[in-house]
Amino acid sequence: MTDLAPYAVTGNNSRGRKIIEDAPQGRSEFQRDRDRIIHSGAFRRLEYKTQVFVNHEGDLFRTRLTHSIEVAQIARSIARHLCLNEDLAEAISLAHDLGHTPFGHAGQDALNACMKTYGGFEHNLQSLRVVDKLEERYAAFDGLNLCFETREGILKHCSADNAARLGEVGERFLNNRRPSLEAQVANLADEIAYNNHDVDDGLRSGLVTLEQLETVPLVANHLNEVRHAYPDLPERRVVHETVRRMINTLVMDLIRRSESNISTQSPATLDEVRSAPVLITYSPEINDQQRALKGFLRTHLYRHYRVLRMSAKAQRIISDLFGIFMADSRLLPPQFQHPAEQDRARAVADYIAGMTDRYAIREHRRIFAVEEGV
Ligand code: MG
Repeated sequence: MTDLAPYAVTGNNSRGRKIIEDAPQGRSEFQRDRDRIIHSGAFRRLEYKTQVFVNHEGDLFRTRLTHSIEVAQIARSIARHLCLNEDLAEAISLAHDLGHTPFGHAGQDALNACMKTYGGFEHNLQSLRVVDKLEERYAAFDGLNLCFETREGILKHCSADNAARLGEVGERFLNNRRPSLEAQVANLADEIAYNNHDVDDGLRSGLVTLEQLETVPLVANHLNEVRHAYPDLPERRVVHETVRRMINTLVMDLIRRSESNISTQSPATLDEVRSAPVLITYSPEINDQQRALKGFLRTHLYRHYRVLRMSAKAQRIISDLFGIFMADSRLLPPQFQHPAEQDRARAVADYIAGMTDRYAIREHRRIFAVEEGV
């Protein structure tokens, strides 16, 4: 690894793990975090969870797993360029969606509505709950006992109430402080990954067309360049070549702008990063362009009637399951059964959030379809 910047997170300036463990052999603390995440059950389940398209709709669409790997790739590139801790950026990226429900945002909204009187449900908080509590792999502790900096990176946003309840990892939301630059990088790498792969998946699905995308400057600029340089290129290759250039533009803009933010602010330590403004940013021009792309995707892809139909189905599955498990907790697997209503609601939410798309569909069928076995 190249020399890290003085304000990068390292094993030395880390606040460490809640439960003190022996130092890792042959790998760094943050490599160990990454390895624990990759070996977790929640990570493997990401393979069968929706990003935008439900898992069974096609084999080539992104899932939460391939999305998380793309985020990690982008985050590592940026972190390396800025002399930040690549392993930490990678660990945060791989863990950031561990708490996602089945069926993407439709699933999260449905579960949040079900949990309204029980403290709500938020996938970002749930990702932290997975690594802090729900994974059962170690003899000495619940969860994965990750380093503070990995946990703070997973917790991207948080209400004041939740922040107060979460202790150390929630403090920055109450004290108006920033997370590490590695966390800031992983956060924007997430956005770069999904905006670009949703263009690719949207086109592949036929729900959006290249003609529509020509109205989006970030796409149009690169599309015109590609068409001009390769007039006879088949359309699939035009799409890949365009998306590749879009990712590169966003990454390079982010690196340049962040370098200039860092040199203006010149933090000397990790602590000075925490009290500085957000330093990992796009330039205003590229920021406008990527917001326009986001707006396009929201209108034309995420609210496409075929996506909304799938979302409506997903919401029904989740609220049916929640309703029946709350009404009769004896239907739950024993480890999720809780006599007290408040605890039961959280246990039901944990159970449902942990399901893959197809597991939720099957579980719904097992319980509600009379012709189905149980
Ligand atoms: Mg994500």
